[in-house]
Amino acid sequence: MSEVTKQKILVGGEWIDSNSERFEEITDPTTNDVIAHVPLCGEDEINKVIQVAKEAFPAWRDTPVAKRAAYFFKLQQILIREQENIAEIISKEHGKVFSDAMGSIRRGIDIVEFAAGMPTLLQGQTIENISKDIDCNTYRQPLGVCAAITPFNFPAMVPMWFAPIAIAAGNTFVLKPSEKTSLSTLKIAECFQEAGLPDGVFNVVTGDKEAVDALLHNYDVKAISFVGSTPVGKYIYEEGSKNGKRVQALTGAKNHMVVMPDADLEQAVSALIGSVFGSAGERCMAISVCVAVGDVSDKLIPKLVERAKSLKVGPGTEKSMEMGPLVTKEHLNRVVSYIGKGIEEGASLILDGRDLRVEGYPNGNWLGPTIFDYVTPQMTIYREEIFGPVLCVLRVDTLQDAIDLINNHRFGNGTAIFTDSGKAARDFRTNVNVGMIGLNVPIPVPMAYFSFTGWKDSFFGTLHAHGKDGVLFYTEQKIVTSKWFGSQESSSLKMSI
Ligand code: NAD
Repeated sequence: MSEVTKQKILVGGEWIDSNSERFEEITDPTTNDVIAHVPLCGEDEINKVIQVAKEAFPAWRDTPVAKRAAYFFKLQQILIREQENIAEIISKEHGKVFSDAMGSIRRGIDIVEFAAGMPTLLQGQTIENISKDIDCNTYRQPLGVCAAITPFNFPAMVPMWFAPIAIAAGNTFVLKPSEKTSLSTLKIAECFQEAGLPDGVFNVVTGDKEAVDALLHNYDVKAISFVGSTPVGKYIYEEGSKNGKRVQALTGAKNHMVVMPDADLEQAVSALIGSVFGSAGERCMAISVCVAVGDVSDKLIPKLVERAKSLKVGPGTEKSMEMGPLVTKEHLNRVVSYIGKGIEEGASLILDGRDLRVEGYPNGNWLGPTIFDYVTPQMTIYREEIFGPVLCVLRVDTLQDAIDLINNHRFGNGTAIFTDSGKAARDFRTNVNVGMIGLNVPIPVPMAYFSFTGWKDSFFGTLHAHGKDGVLFYTEQKIVTSKWFGSQESSSLKMSI
């Protein structure tokens, strides 16, 4: 193994070699060449890192909140300076196109800016004279060592959903990114380090299930934020909760976009193209189901297929491309096997991306835009998350049918409706059991100041990521009730001094 490609981990303010002998290969998805090796840290090593974070906690907790927040003003400037370099790394290891990568970094920076407002966000509440001579105040205090376990698809943005808020609130942090796309996260870690956080406040380890299990089982980890697939998220929620930790697990999705007969068709088609095929469908808020209501399908589907066919697919690092490859060969094979399943179960494959070839990149993980029509709720391609550029179209008669369909699905991350009718939009918003809703907005990802509120099997926990929930998740509330005794004379004496 070449030494130059061996990555280090960030522990106690220093980049060090892991003592692990297990490594994961990071590959370029356009060629499948190995571009780096990341260590898969073992339990002992993770426990040592947690100890480092634990030792850094008391001094960091006692650092005035305005001083803690000030690091995030600095980090914001560093990230803005470095965003193109980070985006290039994302495109190189993940495959998404440069503009998508830049957009995701911007969303991460939004959270850094939110965290810089921590002096306001941490303010408590007071009632004076809640009862005779008794006052009541609330305080929010940090928890200790917090950890995040993050997925391959947003290696820069998702870690920033958590670390800035947790750290600004006074916690210390251990981050474990996906072993498939760790390079972008390690680059973000360099930015955190340059911001000058005290040693041990922010640590990054790489690894797989063994590292995750060490975080889940160590008593000193007080809270875990997870983003990834539903089976793993459920395991982390159950195992972490069993071990007395606070856990928030943001998991898989199947997001429906309803198109009503009165929708602006051009807008609806553009929205579908961007939200289904952007980032090659490897987004938890990607639209993967189009629900065509009434006769809209006759006009909508041909336009959609025509636009999807014209998308430029190629290396994400080439700025003219609109869609890149899938992250790994293994993931490509998984997505392709779903396409086979869709055909087998009787869906109508109206656009098949499997034959796509990209000149100069014969070994890339390519899959072109793929569309199935006449999908039914019983089919595997409808029930399960595919996480690739594959759209299922379902045809229904009424808005109520569309709402019932969505409410019967196990996932409840995001959904959208395209319509000109305020009444239809309001009925949809009121009755659909999904946490994030777009009215003529295809990917309703909340901005940093709101929380990311998936429902049903798309989320396990109580407090969601970022926004006000993020602050509550990373802090514990204390309520102080107080009464002071003393004679009238001593009080007036003090006041006259
Ligand atoms: P994944 O579940 O395979 O991996 C996520 C993390 O868990 C990684 O850090 C990985 O190392 C770790 N992990 C994997 N298997 C594990 C196991 N058996 N035990 C313990 N830890 C394990 O997910 P992924 O493939 O990296 O990411 C794609 C998934 O993430 C999709 O399902 C997508 O919907 C979901 N996602 C959800 C959101 C959201 O906000 N709801 C956002 C982004 C991605």
